[in-house]
Amino acid sequence: MAAADGGRAEGGFPAPRRGWRTLLPPPLLLLLLLLLLLLSCASPGRSRLYQAGVDPVWVLRAGMVRQVLRDSPSAWLVQFYSSSCGHCVSFAPTWRALAGDVHEWDPAIRVGVLDCGDEENYGTCKEYGIPYYPTFRYFRAFTRQFTTGESRLGADREPQTVRQTMIDFLQNHSREAKPPACPPLEPMQPEDIFALFDKNLLHYTAVIFEKTDSYVGREVILDLSQYENIVVKRVSGADAVFLEKLNIPSVPSTYLIYPNGSHGFIPILKPLRSFFSSYLKSLHGVRRKLLSQLPTPVGQNREENMDVKEWKDFDKSKLYMADLESGLHYLLRVELATHKTLEGAELKTFKDVVILLAKLFPGQQPVMKLLETLEVWLVSLPLDKIPYDAILDLLNNKMRISGLFLTNRIQWVGCQGSRPELRGYTCSFWKLFHTLTVQAALRPKALLNTGLEDSPQAVLRTMERCIQSFFGCRDCAQHFAEMARESLSSLKTLDEAVLWLWEKHNVVNARVAGDLSEDPKFPKVQWPTPDICPACHEEIKGAHAWNKDQVLQFLKHHYSSDNIVYTYTEGQAHPGEGVLQEEQEKSQLRKEGQRNEEKLQDPQTLLVAGPRVVDRWMGQDSPVKDRGKKGAESVVQEDMKQAVSFLGVGFSNVDMSLCIVLYIASSLFLMIMYFFFRMRSKRWKVRYSRPYV
Ligand SMILES: Cc1cc2nc3c(=O)[nH]c(=O)nc-3n(C[C@H](O)[C@H](O)[C@H](O)COP(=O)(O)OP(=O)(O)OC[C@H]3O[C@@H](n4cnc5c(N)ncnc54)[C@H](O)[C@@H]3O)c2cc1C
Repeated sequence: MAAADGGRAEGGFPAPRRGWRTLLPPPLLLLLLLLLLLLSCASPGRSRLYQAGVDPVWVLRAGMVRQVLRDSPSAWLVQFYSSSCGHCVSFAPTWRALAGDVHEWDPAIRVGVLDCGDEENYGTCKEYGIPYYPTFRYFRAFTRQFTTGESRLGADREPQTVRQTMIDFLQNHSREAKPPACPPLEPMQPEDIFALFDKNLLHYTAVIFEKTDSYVGREVILDLSQYENIVVKRVSGADAVFLEKLNIPSVPSTYLIYPNGSHGFIPILKPLRSFFSSYLKSLHGVRRKLLSQLPTPVGQNREENMDVKEWKDFDKSKLYMADLESGLHYLLRVELATHKTLEGAELKTFKDVVILLAKLFPGQQPVMKLLETLEVWLVSLPLDKIPYDAILDLLNNKMRISGLFLTNRIQWVGCQGSRPELRGYTCSFWKLFHTLTVQAALRPKALLNTGLEDSPQAVLRTMERCIQSFFGCRDCAQHFAEMARESLSSLKTLDEAVLWLWEKHNVVNARVAGDLSEDPKFPKVQWPTPDICPACHEEIKGAHAWNKDQVLQFLKHHYSSDNIVYTYTEGQAHPGEGVLQEEQEKSQLRKEGQRNEEKLQDPQTLLVAGPRVVDRWMGQDSPVKDRGKKGAESVVQEDMKQAVSFLGVGFSNVDMSLCIVLYIASSLFLMIMYFFFRMRSKRWKVRYSRPYV
């Protein structure tokens, strides 16, 4: 309560400026120091869409999140976003505006962000069960147990609505758990106002008269919560007779009781929160409490964005395997990770996506082997519920079977953006599914005996379900579902499916052109542009027209295996980058090793699929192409060097260490037993030996 009543408790009017040490009792001081420590931990995070010290939000980081949210003296509203989600990019100005608007409420409720698209934060977002982006969660103050927060925001995310849900949330705290810096928000009884008149209270009391459903009073109370020499109260739903008694012509209005007890109605130009707040802040003697000198995110730690990566030159007429593999990694290890278990329709969707990938993805051998193993495992698994961790173990090749590998390093090439928050995953997602539709059209028999062979719409239907279940951007999913509902069922051939996706992608290009999510270096245009496909463009009676036969031909070439470039893929050296690549690979291997050691879990989950899967793992060759085999296998083999193989089963360093510890422990035990029995037998001999006999 020091925050709200600090001025009233001991200060005269006008109160002399006091040091913050004298303002706060020692326990509160300690609390404040702790808070400072936590907040200093919370803010220096680097984020790509929001910058610590520049934007008025608390930029959270993995590792710190739990610490900051646990037992916090303030409540929190955290936006879990992904810098690769176009809607998150477009929404960022609104969020910044909201955070700026309520920054005075900071000691009571804080506004934070966590970038789930940042590799460092993947695990944390999984822990918090973030299903899509942006996801908004409220966290109560003084929560000791881990909680994933409360979802209270609906589709309306306008600042005013968010502000109001913040207030509701604050009021929803129990008396004991209420943030100490949050002043009482409940309305006073109209009659209680009279008790304040003509008393020397030494501070101002502003009373906001308003309608029952109005939030203005509570907003003004919070706006002034860091100011001293003033207390703001509210009276809601006072009847006309009462208002007339005080000469209040309309609501909302401010009635002011001066420090010496005199009082009167304050005519304010416009009955708006901002007008009320700014008038009250400007009253003589009203000033910010020293508590407000708590560090705020603004102006603090103006850290440069450290995520800027070196630009990679690329040919836009080519398809880069690095984009496709990075996209696959992101889909399987990041987007999917938000689902703790897969079951029902989601599991079916995942199985179908994996079937499509295993049959149609024109990948390098280790990736294809991994996808095929995953497919066999999923198809033969008799379970109707699979924990995501079991899938992840397989993706990470936890059993360390030779020849299975999918990069866990993001390397955007054709999908790189001029800023880290632009392009990336969504670009690769489009490319991945264009590739799959084209591959299905080029190899119509590839899906035979999979259950997906009968319909030319199969790839697109699976894509739609995949977007609905696993694509983080909710609004994108909604738009895509609308487009699919309109026209997907009319497709009769695999070629039509290729053209349908091309057309719909262009519809999205047109819709998002000029949005904040657009990379200025890669403006949204109708694609393919004349420079990469002159034959695709025609003019009919002076108007532009597509030559769809040519477009189809172009797409079939552009998204074919022959157009794929392998530079920047794992294990692929390229001019000038050999040393760098080697270094990166080594650090990748180190990370992989560490992660496997940390996550040493029971591999039985992987064995439940039965001997078929294990057989596949034991190195049976798959009919995939040999391209890229050497490079990627070298990575896999390097990886294997860290483990010892016995009867085809890999043992990690931790396994080996455990063996040694067990060995030493059992040797010690045997030695102790040996000496114990020796001593006993000696004693026994001494007791029963009869030298005199
Ligand atoms: C299903 C889906 C729906 C989306 N909906 C929205 C939305 O509603 N609002 C929003 O802001 N963002 C949306 N996005 C994200 C948006 O479409 C872009 O992916 C993102 O803005 C990045 O753009 P980009 O410049 O990398 O090009 P992208 O549009 O991602 O295109 C990637 C690459 O595909 C190729 N390409 C471009 N057009 C075509 C085409 N017509 N046919 C074949 N290949 C093409 C080009 O080589 C291009 O570089 C959606 C993404 C997906 C996957």
